[in-house]
Amino acid sequence: MPLSNCPRCGKTFNRLPSAKLCPDCQEVEEQQFERVYTYLRDHPGVLIPKIASDTEVPERLILEWFRNRRLLAKDPSITWPCERCGIPVSEGRLCQRCAGKFQASLGEHPDASSGTPRKPGSADAPAGHRPDIGHELRGDKYTR
Ligand SMILES: [Zn+2]
Ligand SMILES: [Zn+2]
Repeated sequence: MPLSNCPRCGKTFNRLPSAKLCPDCQEVEEQQFERVYTYLRDHPGVLIPKIASDTEVPERLILEWFRNRRLLAKDPSITWPCERCGIPVSEGRLCQRCAGKFQASLGEHPDASSGTPRKPGSADAPAGHRPDIGHELRGDKYTR
């Protein structure tokens, strides 16, 4: 089993493929998750900073649970920033626009690298399958 440092307490532990924390921290985090989960069930629509202060669970952790869909926002007013562009999202890690770009970049067509300028009409096209969107994604990543 690979030895790994716990990202939370820094302790070295035998890392199971499914575990990201050492067993101690894993347990603490389970309890925190349970607390937030129960809190959300009783208080749908409470915003993340308030959830954090009422449950005494770090906001960062709560955000991570929303982002990896362990927690689901049942109220549209619960949002967190998109990991790419920072606009508020209420599901997953990316806003729909960035998620579309991300998918486009995964299925990228070789032509996309030839520097084709973005056509004004392309904005209406269904997101996610256009090679020129993939090109724009790369531009965002490396030139800014
Ligand atoms: Zn730990
Ligand atoms: Zn975004």
